[in-house]
Amino acid sequence: MNKPMSMFATQPNRARKHEAFILLGAPGCGKGTQGRALGALPGFFHCACGEVFRSITPTSPLGQMVASFSSRGELVPDEITIKLWQSYLDNCVQSAAYQPGKDMLLLDGIPRNLAQASLLSDIIQVRGVFHLRCDQTVELVERLRRRALRENRLDDAKDDVIMRRLEVFERTSQPLLNFYPPDLVRTVVADHPPAAVLHEILGHIHNLT
Ligand code: AMP
Repeated sequence: MNKPMSMFATQPNRARKHEAFILLGAPGCGKGTQGRALGALPGFFHCACGEVFRSITPTSPLGQMVASFSSRGELVPDEITIKLWQSYLDNCVQSAAYQPGKDMLLLDGIPRNLAQASLLSDIIQVRGVFHLRCDQTVELVERLRRRALRENRLDDAKDDVIMRRLEVFERTSQPLLNFYPPDLVRTVVADHPPAAVLHEILGHIHNLT
């Protein structure tokens, strides 16, 4: 990781696209943990789509619309998702929390399906996709249950909602992985301790940039 920051410099013919790594994995696989750890490094900006939705006032009409999907473990409709995500990112640029051209985006929880990947392809230049693979479904469910209690996450408070979230991921993840050129995709075993997972992702980042 001792390459100069200019490694993320936007190329001239993609001047308007955001450079990004995508963290892709089932709910509870540790995307957020890895995204936050990587986002603490200079030159990276962690952007979790679930946080974009949770930052909306729950009692507002928009918040209620979002809750009508997330409380059932369903995805919020794609066009709305991309619009909200983009306006969140614009605010981050305005506040200088994220500096395009200097910072690499770490996308967590977006894109979630092919339609979103396609909509985003006009906006972001994907430099790598880290597929956090977790084969231990029982462990995933346990983690989601614990997080629901700790963070008051209503979406993960009920087992049927958890199962629906996992089903949606199962259905959408492979087509999403197939969308990206294979040389950009790296599979990382997410069942390992977070520090080991982080170490592996950092190695991939080093090789991809
Ligand atoms: P997460 O924190 O990423 O697990 O997301 C929590 C909930 O927010 C999901 O169950 C969805 O209802 C919604 N959500 C998050 N990201 C997306 C996305 N990219 N597209 C649609 N819905 C999303």
